[in-house]
This record gives sequence, structure tokens and C-alpha cells, in this order.
Amino acid sequence: MNREHTDVVVVGSGFGGSVAAYRLAEAGLSVVVLERGQDYPPGTFARTPAQMSRAFWDPAEGLYGLYDVWGFRGFDSVVSSGLGGGSLIYANVLLRKDEEWFVKEEALPEGGYETWPVSRQELDPHYDAVEGMLGGTPYPLDHPAFAGTAKAHAMQDAAAELGLDWQLPSLAVSFAPTPGAEPGLGLPITDPKYGNLHGVQRRSCRLCGECYLGCNDGAKNSLDHTYLSAARHHGADLRTLHEVREIRPRPEGGYEVDYVHHDPLTKARKPESRTISCDRLVLAAGAYGTTYLLLRNKARFPGLSDALGTRFSGNGDLLTFLLRAKDRDRLRPLDASLGPTITSAIRLPDEVDGVPGAGRGAYIEDGGYPNFVGWMVEEADIAHEISRIVRLMRERFAAFFSHAPDTNLSGEVSELIGDGALSVSSLPLLGMGRDVPDGVLRLRGGRLDADWTTKTSEEYFARMRSTMKRIAAVLGATYADNPIWFRKRIITVHPGGGAPMGRHPGEGVCDPFGEVHGFPGLYIADGAALPGAVGPNPSLTIAALSDRMCTRLLEDTGRVHGTRPVGGAVNGTTRGSEVHRGAEERTSLSFTEEMKGFFAEGEHAPGAGEQAGRDHGHRLGFRLTITVDDVDRFLEEPEHTARAEGWIDAAVCGGRCQIERGWFNLFCPGSAPDRKLMRYRLHFTDAKGRPRTLSGWKDIRHRAATRVWPDTTTLFFRIFEGHVMESDDDEAAIAGAGILRLGLDDFARQLTTFRTEGPNGLAALERFGHFFLSELWDVYRPKLFHGHAPDTTDAPQTAAGSAATATDPEAAADFKNGTAPQATGDAQAVADAQAVADAQAVGDFEVVANSETLAFPELVAASEVATDSQVAADSEAAAGNEPSPA
Ligand SMILES: Cc1cc2nc3c(=O)[nH]c(=O)nc-3n(C[C@H](O)[C@H](O)[C@H](O)COP(=O)(O)OP(=O)(O)OC[C@H]3O[C@@H](n4cnc5c(N)ncnc54)[C@H](O)[C@@H]3O)c2cc1C
Ligand code: SF4
Repeated sequence: MNREHTDVVVVGSGFGGSVAAYRLAEAGLSVVVLERGQDYPPGTFARTPAQMSRAFWDPAEGLYGLYDVWGFRGFDSVVSSGLGGGSLIYANVLLRKDEEWFVKEEALPEGGYETWPVSRQELDPHYDAVEGMLGGTPYPLDHPAFAGTAKAHAMQDAAAELGLDWQLPSLAVSFAPTPGAEPGLGLPITDPKYGNLHGVQRRSCRLCGECYLGCNDGAKNSLDHTYLSAARHHGADLRTLHEVREIRPRPEGGYEVDYVHHDPLTKARKPESRTISCDRLVLAAGAYGTTYLLLRNKARFPGLSDALGTRFSGNGDLLTFLLRAKDRDRLRPLDASLGPTITSAIRLPDEVDGVPGAGRGAYIEDGGYPNFVGWMVEEADIAHEISRIVRLMRERFAAFFSHAPDTNLSGEVSELIGDGALSVSSLPLLGMGRDVPDGVLRLRGGRLDADWTTKTSEEYFARMRSTMKRIAAVLGATYADNPIWFRKRIITVHPGGGAPMGRHPGEGVCDPFGEVHGFPGLYIADGAALPGAVGPNPSLTIAALSDRMCTRLLEDTGRVHGTRPVGGAVNGTTRGSEVHRGAEERTSLSFTEEMKGFFAEGEHAPGAGEQAGRDHGHRLGFRLTITVDDVDRFLEEPEHTARAEGWIDAAVCGGRCQIERGWFNLFCPGSAPDRKLMRYRLHFTDAKGRPRTLSGWKDIRHRAATRVWPDTTTLFFRIFEGHVMESDDDEAAIAGAGILRLGLDDFARQLTTFRTEGPNGLAALERFGHFFLSELWDVYRPKLFHGHAPDTTDAPQTAAGSAATATDPEAAADFKNGTAPQATGDAQAVADAQAVADAQAVGDFEVVANSETLAFPELVAASEVATDSQVAADSEAAAGNEPSPA
């Protein structure tokens, strides 16, 4: 069967998914991220009314936008759909869950208990790692350009007056061009070493307050600019508009994932379903997305914990307003539209902190709204402005209010807020905390539904509202509930739970490391895994739990080694803590290779494909940049895997096709000890939209040293239908075959393209060169000198057959099957080659291998005689006798 396979599929690219994509790709696993939403480079977020009206996620209605709005009976909710998940529209606050709030077996009002099977201590290294990667930094309120942010000062004053803790939390925002540099407004930001997947210049924060609409300046350090760019740098395949519909375990191990690829141009209502399989499946589609996928596919996961759907909570979210703040008799400016959406936080202690009678802890943060309301305002009349805003909001969020008995909120809101609600003296307050996580997500009529109300958290909400009223009083403001509060509804942007972690299947769906009980290799990395409300804004905790999950996963695969990865923590799991080499300590190496040749559709043998392609003038070429991310690790690992990026160009494919994902293996082990392969696997999509895989190999096997040149420069390849991984080659449908060659000119150019990056560039280049030459030496050295019979696979047929039998049983089998190379075309060239092998070339080769300078031109010089052998290779290939990729 022709099916794509990868080490890891990650569903969703929010906080859980992005961290997983980066950590696992960085460790060398092949990772495919399936994200249903689109990507949003800076400058593409909706701002005009027309754009806003399309900015919702509802593919059935032809909408593929950013906001996914849910209306349940007890509450409403907004989450995000896009590459970077909630980080695209979140308010950037990174707060750690308070140490004591990791409660253990805390009784819930209506039975059961909440328990966190992980502690703050265990999570701290992962918090550190995520904060580092997201560039968390407190709002620079003490800096002149930022000091005039009135709302932050107002919150500070109110907290001081009320005896509450106030802080400037870490914000994942760039206030300066580089971390630690002098802050400034609108300054060009320097990209980190791993680059930026959008390739668009980012600028530091200009305090426009538009964070929850998406940052058009790129000042937010959202996941696309950070984890996902780093994941992509390490080879992760990020696929947008790919929505996962079905998941199931495979009988032979691993998982299968069915997905559709939306096309906003055609808006197909029923896009074609495709399947990818993987060894490990990471669910990170958010609390709603992941729980829905598991509920929908539950029958395929027999024995899944009954905790599925439980522990849902809205993280105690409450939105209220302070209106017309006054300082004595004069209006007190709060300037809610100046600054990022949130700048500061007041902490309400919790009973578990040792404050008797305090109840459940919470945070209250200053909110903001953008200063762009011009597009909503046609008249200067303020009352109309409010009505219009509310009307627009109502229209845009139609589904959001769909469950409310009467949806005419505009009048209510206008009446309540009155003139000047969005004036300089008003401020939204955002509350959140440890509400009671006793909600249940379930399927009703095939759709996700939630049984959850504020009832069991009444005490918590009462305390929150009374504290907000006290803040209003201190600031001389009028306190106003959000109008929908009167219907005992809340709006949550922090949904959590649904597939909670627990110590055993009776307690949770997944274990404390996110692995689903009873289903090895299936992980939950997102907000669904939360066993209760985080309390503060949850995304940092979700990301830290995912980081911890990855460390455990990599330990299980034996891939945690070296020192700490730049954006991940390796300790904090119970399985010890070998460390992983940091990016700053690694040296990478890259070079560019260009090869050209012929290809024919319908042919299965490369030689025949080359011949037919040549006859019909069907050329194919590629230009690849091969990148070794960490030379040390590359040399250590037996497969010697590097990334391949670039393009394939062929008229039969419809022109130049970008490589979507590519791998290159240098001298990975072949079917015999003295046989090595250079493998190429390139995924691309042809002009007709058909996914294709070029699978190629250069066959480096023991024979005359003169074969060094043709062997290392001749690439046999097949093109498969679909994006196929190696394990599925045998079953994959072959679209065609051919041969590519590296010309001397191209090789000379290639030598000029070698680059290194990192602390030990020259040494790395030398090690790489030494490896290259010594591997060749290993394969082609004359075995005569080492007590072996010479291998004469280039000798005329009978000699080759007997030599193969004598030295290499597998080669002998190849020979019998007619798959071993046979010098049928040019006996003279073979004889020449043999002669050189026995004499001069061997000596040359030895010189090269022992060379101090390790220059590639010397290798060419040693192989120059091989131009003759090229003729032989051509003949072999033409006869379809090219070696197999085994
Ligand atoms: C306006 C707003 C402000 C916020 N402010 C803050 C804040 O300041 N600090 C904070 O900590 N948190 C904040 N949050 C909450 C934060 O965004 C979420 O807690 C966080 O994003 C959850 O992370 P996650 O990994 O669980 O899922 P998400 O980030 O929601 O990511 C899930 C991803 O999965 C994708 N997906 C869903 N279903 C599928 C499918 N079937 N196939 C493929 N892909 C799928 C979605 O498109 C999405 O990209 C805010 C949220 C909002 C809406
Ligand atoms: S305030 Fe404006 S510029 Fe700053 S992060 Fe938010 S959206 Fe970007």
C-alpha cells in the first residue's frame, strides 16, 4: 500500500504541539505537523471590517480564518486556528503555576478530587526552557518609552492600596531588537540563528494593543516565530490547512491519521481524505480539538480511560470593566489601548498557600483593546460608536452568542457602559484562577458539547468580582460586569482538561508524561491534558508539560544525550537526566549539490528510465542544499542523516518543484560490510498537485578504486507516488525512474559551497572531510593488502561472479539475480580500472586518505582515471543493471 509514514505526527501547532515539533525534530526524529489553520506572517492579520468578517474558522461555511468560536450552554469560548495556535491571538503572558497550586487529591464540591501528578519542582526546568525559547521578559515599565503606560501604574496603585501582590509578569514580546538590548518602539528585530519561517522583517512592540487580533508587526514572540521556526530549521514538516479527522492504532504498532487538506480557493466542502502513519502520535489540537478527536474515535481505542471528557474547566476566566476612573474630581486616564493587551497582574492568594479562608487563588490582569476603532466608527457620535462596536461584535461572534436566550446585547451594553466606555478612563479587567474543574466534554449528535456551569465555582467568582469592585473603588471607577454574566455565563479563552493526566487509567487518560494509558506512543501534549485549572494564564504550563513529555519520549528512544538543547530541558523526569548538546555548542555544515540526468515515467529500473528519458529528451535535475545540523552527532550516528532542501526540476513534473521535506544519508550501511550508500529521499508535489517522492541512492561498494568517481557521482533513483518513507518503499507505487549524474563542473562548484556555522567551523570541516575520505578508503581499499581476496565485481562476468561468491555472499546473490553491476558495456574500461586498482590508483588513494589537507580536489585527482569508468557505468545503467538500494 502506498502510504506516507513518519516517526512522529503532531496534530495541532499550539503550545503543546509546537514544543513537541521542535524538541522531537531537533533530536533527529522525522516530524510532520498537521495544523488545520493557515499561517499568518506579520502584516496578514485581519484589521478591516471586511477582513474581520472572514476571520472565523468554519470550513463548512467556507471560512478558514483565525478565530474558532464555541457556544456551549453554560459558557462561550474562543480559541485559535492557525500555525502557532493560541499564541497568534493570546496576550503573551507567561506565568508559572504557583507551587502550592499543584494540589494533591483536593476534594471537589460534587465528589471526586483534583490531583496534579506532577510538581512545580519537576516542571521548573521545563518552565525555564520554554521561557528562554519564547523570550519572556517583563514589560519594561521603568524605561522612558514605556513608563507612561497608565494602566500598569493604576494596577500597581490599586494592589498597593489593597495589600495585594502586584507584578510585571514575563511577556513573550520583543521590546528590543535582541534579548537584553535597549528597548525601543518599532525597531527591527534580529532573527535567532534558526531563522524565521515567514522570512518577514519583525519589529519591536509599538504598544498598539492589538495583540489578540494578531501582531502585524511581528513583535509577539508567538510560536511561529520561535518554536515552529526552530522546528522547521531542524527539518519538521509543517503543513497548514491540514485538518485531522480520524486516528487509530495500527495492528503492527504505531498509529494512522486521516486528514483532509482544505483549499480556501476551491472551498471544497468534502476534501479528499488522506492517511499518514507514524510510530508516535502527539495530539495537540487544544482542549476542544484533542478531546473531540478522542471522543470521536473512542471505539478504535478499546480500554481508553473513562476519564475521557472529564476535568474540564475555563480556568476561572472572568471579564469585567472599570469605567470612568477618577482621581479626585478629574478623570484618571487608564489608556487601555496603550501597551500590549496585558502588562501586569495582581495575585489573589489561595487557601492552599496557607491563607485560611482565602478560597481558590486567582490573578487579575489589566486588559486592553486596540486603538483602531476607526474602522468601526462612521460617525463621531460616541453612543453610536458603542452601539456599532457591539453590533459588529455580535455579528462577527454570531455563533458565540447563539445559545443566549436573547442576543440583542447592544442595547444592554450601550446602556450599561454609556458614553465614553472606550475612553481613556476605562479598562477591561481579566480575571482567572483555580475554578472547580468538574466540567465534562462529550459528544451530542456527533458534535462536541460541554456540561459545565459556574455553579460549583460560585464562591470563587464571588471573591473575584468583589476584589475587582475594590480595585474599581480605589481607582474611582464604576465597576461593570460583562453583560453576559447576568445570564450566569462566562467567556473563556483558557479551556483546559478533557483528556486529563492521572497516575493510572482510573484517574486520567494519559500518564504524568502525557502518554495515553494503554496506548504506547500516543501522547497528549496540550491543554486537554490539564487535570485542573492552572490558575494563572495556562500556556506556559502547557508548553512546559509538553517539553517534559518530549524529554521522556526521547529518553525512551535513547535520543537524549550530550548537553541541553537550546529550547528544551532534559531533567525533571524521573528517568535520570543525561544532557543534550546545546545549539550554541554545535557546529553545522552545509553544501549545495546540483545533479542532472534523465527520467522516464512508467519505468521501474533507473537504467531503463535513463535510456528512455534520454530517447525522449525528458530531463530531470535537482539542486539541493544539504545541511548537517550538528557535525558531531552526524558523525556519531550510523545513518549519518542530514537535511536536504531545494528543488527538483523536470518538465514531466510540471517544472520546478520545491522540496517540501528531504533527507540525505552519507555512507549509511549497505547490505555488506564493504558497501555503503548515499541515500536521498525528497518529498515534493508536482504541478498537478500530486505528492511525489524521489528516492535515490549512490552505490559505494568495494571494487576498483577508479570507481570512486562514478560511484560517488551517479545517483540511481525512482519516483514514487505519494510522500513515502523508506519502510514503505516496497509497497509504494512507482511513477518512474532514472539516473542523475554530477558533472565535473558541478562538482567543482559544489566544492565552493561548503559552509560551517558554529564554534569550531574549520575543525568540523576537517572532521567531515576526514570521515568522507576514510569511508571511501574503507570501501575501496585494496583488500589484497589486508588479507582478503580482491573483489572483482567490475571484471568480466564470470570472474565477477566467482569473486562475488568468494567475498560476499549477498553480492553473489545479486549477481545471480542479475542485479549486481556487470561490466557488459566496456571490458576495456574495466580492465583499465582493474589495472589501476592493482597498481597506481591504490597508491594514489592511500596518499589521499592519509592526506593532512583532506582537500576534495585531491580526491578528484585520484579518481581522474575514472572518466573511463564512467563509460562502463553508463553501460551498466543503460542495461538496467544498476545496483539495488538495499
Ligand atoms: C484572546 C486570548 C488571549 C489569551 N491570552 C493568554 C495569555 O496571555 N497567556 C496564556 O498563557 N494564555 C493565553 N491564552 C490562552 C492560550 O492561547 C491557550 O491556553 C493555549 O493556546 C492552549 O494551547 P494548546 O496547545 O492547548 O492549544 P492551542 O494553542 O489552541 O492549539 C491547538 C491547535 O490545534 C489546531 N487544531 C485543532 N483541531 C485540529 C485538527 N483536527 N487537525 C489539525 N489541527 C487542529 C488548532 O488550529 C490550533 O492551532 C489566550 C487565549 C485567547 C483566545
Ligand atoms: S502591542 Fe501591538 S506591536 Fe506590541 S505585541 Fe501587541 S500587537 Fe504587537
